[in-house]
Amino acid sequence: MTDTLDPRSWLYPTPRGLYCKPGDFYIDPAVAVPRAVITHGHGDHARPGHRAALATPETLAIMRARFEDMPDTQQQPLKYGESVQIGEVDVELAPAGHILGSAQAVLAYRGQRIVVSGDFKRRPDPTCPPFEPIPCDVFITEATFALPVFHHPSDMGEIGKLLRSVATFPERTHLVGVYALGKCQRVIRLLRAAGWDKRIWLHGGLMALCKLYQEQGVDLGDIAHVGDAILETFRGAIVLCPPSALADRWSRRFADPVPAVCSGWMRVRARARQSGAELPLVISDHADWGELCQTLKDVGAPKVWVTHGREEALVHMARSIGIDAEALHLAGRDEEDG
Ligand SMILES: [Zn+2]
Ligand SMILES: [Zn+2]
Repeated sequence: MTDTLDPRSWLYPTPRGLYCKPGDFYIDPAVAVPRAVITHGHGDHARPGHRAALATPETLAIMRARFEDMPDTQQQPLKYGESVQIGEVDVELAPAGHILGSAQAVLAYRGQRIVVSGDFKRRPDPTCPPFEPIPCDVFITEATFALPVFHHPSDMGEIGKLLRSVATFPERTHLVGVYALGKCQRVIRLLRAAGWDKRIWLHGGLMALCKLYQEQGVDLGDIAHVGDAILETFRGAIVLCPPSALADRWSRRFADPVPAVCSGWMRVRARARQSGAELPLVISDHADWGELCQTLKDVGAPKVWVTHGREEALVHMARSIGIDAEALHLAGRDEEDG
């Protein structure tokens, strides 16, 4: 009886996070809970200390790498497309195209289906399978870049800018700020696709997750830790680091570096200036405005709940095309990778 069942009666926000009552579990909770379903490994979605955690095998591997093996968490891997019953709810995970292992949680209860997108993007990413639009009654969408001003250019075009700069300044080191989980490995793959087959140097803070990606079958080519370099001038080299390291003492070892940052936020001039990037590159792991709007059409849900960013604009847009949309205010969401 889909028509009489109020979706808010079985899935709703609480101070601990989004709670599914008939399954007695939380999705990406803000604190440790008895049972959690985790969409992906970023810090504001995956947290340590749950008694039980269900996620894709790749996301669980990322969580083990970040949270010292999680011996006290009962880990329940669920591959894309497989389903499991928790309480009275059928749970399935579908690709979200955001980072390795990222998933949308597809919840079915009494003939009603709700999809929790987590974070997602629509363009191809060589490190994970593409987002799959799942028809549903309620679609919960992220809204990180939900303003018409956010249009992400082609990622290969942005990588082209970086390589042209390297060719123009062969004596300088290009220091590229990237978020450690997802963005780093995608940028390496994009560089390889653009023909950069030389060694790519990494800040120590990026090594562990790159190794994990390699173990999960993502080929990153020749990568090495900056700290292991011997008699290396780094002239003409590409060095990846966390964005915060660009302003660190760490960056002083490089001769006349060109600081770059890869992020969707580089679209905003003030943000680019603030980041210290001489070369801002707009490469994002989130959907831009056009992709968010297209996704609402592709999914075709009559109800949309908007969370995680600029809710108002997307709610307004959804209502204008006849969708019953509202903002869903969830606790514990930081602005992350971009
Ligand atoms: Zn994320
Ligand atoms: Zn997020």
